Amino acid sequence: MKLVFLGPPGIGKGTYARAVSKRYNIPHISTGDIFREEIKKNTELGRRIKGYVERGELVPDDIVIEVVKQRLRQPDCRKGFILDGFPRTIRQAEALDEIARVDLALNFVAPDEVIIERISGRRICTRCGAIYHIKFMPPKYVGVCDNCGGPLILRKDDRPEVVRHRLEIYREKFAPILDYYRRRKLLVDIDASEQAPQVIPKIIKVLETYFHSEET
Ligand code: AMP
Repeated sequence: MKLVFLGPPGIGKGTYARAVSKRYNIPHISTGDIFREEIKKNTELGRRIKGYVERGELVPDDIVIEVVKQRLRQPDCRKGFILDGFPRTIRQAEALDEIARVDLALNFVAPDEVIIERISGRRICTRCGAIYHIKFMPPKYVGVCDNCGGPLILRKDDRPEVVRHRLEIYREKFAPILDYYRRRKLLVDIDASEQAPQVIPKIIKVLETYFHSEET
């Protein structure tokens, strides 16, 4: 089950990917999470990409492709994976085709107002990466992670001015990626305007239908 999750920032790809990863026991690979971790650890890679990530700009293709290539070489990716936040450019999509055969690209769609409400209320645990929403998925105690007790923060690139910039980049850069997968008949649109508990069963249904018919 080699999956690519596509859609604008804030649509909930991370939440959906975590659910699918748990259900099918395949790794959830988020280039954004990898980059944030590298920045936090202040590694050489982290220092190279910090500026781009904090400004909400795309990290250069060569760096991203190398990171994904190395990650997909790990043994846990043999039976499948979920790529979240990659590919974001045609060069990345082409590079991915050389590394692995993607089965499906799920394209999550929702109106802009829905996305902006989701992003501004999103909180992330700095310790374990769990995702909350102050309105739709609040933690038991304000600012504290239910899983590990770690502090919850608003990501720097989730600030409204940065989000606006990220949505602009998305619109400008993403149409060709969607076309890329549509032309290969791998693209499936999923309406993500409802909350995660409603969206996740829709995803499972698509996957069960596709992979069941693949087997038969
Ligand atoms: P995300 O969590 O997917 O929204 O990613 C956060 C930030 O990481 C983005 O705004 C970019 O700066 C960087 N990033 C993540 N994935 C990619 C990618 N595939 N190509 C370029 N930059 C990326």
